[in-house]
Amino acid sequence: MVLLRPPNGYRYVLFISFDLDAESAEIYRGSDPNTLSHGRFSVYRGVYKLLDLLEKYEVHVTFFTPSWVVDRYPTLIEEIVSRGHEIAAHGYLHERLDQLGLEDEENVFKKTSEIFKDIVGQKPLGFRSPYWRWSKNTINLLLKYGYRYDSSLMDDEVPYILKHRDRQLYEYPVDWRLDDWPYLEYYRSLTPRQLLEQWLEEIRYAENNTGYVSITMHPQCIGRGARIKVLEKLLEHARRTGAWIPRGKDLADYLEKLSEDREVIVHQYVEY
Ligand SMILES: [Zn+2]
Repeated sequence: MVLLRPPNGYRYVLFISFDLDAESAEIYRGSDPNTLSHGRFSVYRGVYKLLDLLEKYEVHVTFFTPSWVVDRYPTLIEEIVSRGHEIAAHGYLHERLDQLGLEDEENVFKKTSEIFKDIVGQKPLGFRSPYWRWSKNTINLLLKYGYRYDSSLMDDEVPYILKHRDRQLYEYPVDWRLDDWPYLEYYRSLTPRQLLEQWLEEIRYAENNTGYVSITMHPQCIGRGARIKVLEKLLEHARRTGAWIPRGKDLADYLEKLSEDREVIVHQYVEY
């Protein structure tokens, strides 16, 4: 018996998502033009390669996107949405929320809601904190601004209901081992082939044990050159093994149905 029951007809849930940071993190840090250009690769080239591959496999996913990027590249955002994908929130300029005071952090949420309404056509339903770091105010802001799900915490292996006082949202936990950035960009400790093997091992584990695995990628990283083949091999494996690949909002709908039968794990938010 797996921890998360997949929808009928599927063997497990594979939450593939992309963080479309473009050059936002580098601008926030005040980097040089060359470093900025590394981030910009995603919007010039990387994301288009991903979109074509996702279309080939008829898969629709979620792009967690800083609202500065939404504002700066509206045509690209419209294209992503028109191809059936979801745009969810990821800070304004890829700030470290744990370094902001309440007022500055609330501004990030306010600006993000406004920009999304303007360009995407609606407020975001999902959120992922930049660097997977919350502040102690983040939970309250997520609930105040009406987020339905978040994907930033690391305290379980399957999605769960995160309760805080009398309110709740769905949490889709993440894991640094299931992110392309540390291995291919930051530490450069694995080759793309080794990373693929590590991820396939995790997927095989999920198929038989948890029923769920979440893999995070960055268009500026996985979209570069032959690395895109890692994604293609993942999608081939997913198709062969009966994976359900949902957008974040589809997963929230599914969890809502499961929770009617009390089939979703519940964790209380731990204040510190
Ligand atoms: Zn990011």
